[in-house]
Amino acid sequence: MHVRTLARGLTAALAVTLALAGGQASAAPAAGDRAAAPRVLTYDASASAEFRAAVDRGAAIWNESVDGVELRPVAAGQRANIRILADNGWPRAYTTTLGSGTVYIGRQAVGQGYDTIRISSHELGHILGLPDRKPGPCSSLMSGSTAGTSCRNPYPNAAERAEVEGNFGAALTRPAGAPRDAVAAG
Ligand SMILES: [Zn+2]
Repeated sequence: MHVRTLARGLTAALAVTLALAGGQASAAPAAGDRAAAPRVLTYDASASAEFRAAVDRGAAIWNESVDGVELRPVAAGQRANIRILADNGWPRAYTTTLGSGTVYIGRQAVGQGYDTIRISSHELGHILGLPDRKPGPCSSLMSGSTAGTSCRNPYPNAAERAEVEGNFGAALTRPAGAPRDAVAAG
């Protein structure tokens, strides 16, 4: 019991440290660093061409799925944390720091029949700190292409949601009793 409490304390301290480091490293609005508020990350999808709606849907799915971070379209003239572009390669994400980087929605995978919304939320998952989990089932967002072209699931599973909450520190600041079973039940 004591060991477990100590371990949880250390985990909490580490997560807070990471959250603070992430906050300092990005150009997020000041409000994003308040303890109970989600960290706001802006994204610029103006160069995502025919995938614009899929990108917006992918961002909305993350907003529905986690409390610790919120993805918002960047205001005109502002610099975004995340840039999302269309190109003819394979979909990929380059993360600079947690919560910022560049995503390419590659037409190569779309041409092979992969779902554009799943691609969008998968690549945004990388920006939110998730690694690939390949091979894996369709229920896993980060199994990516290994789930096959028939897989159209764009939602992170409970473990993936919890990992993102941990990355952004929400699990630590959420008041007891707040609804979010995946984290509270752990
Ligand atoms: Zn991936």
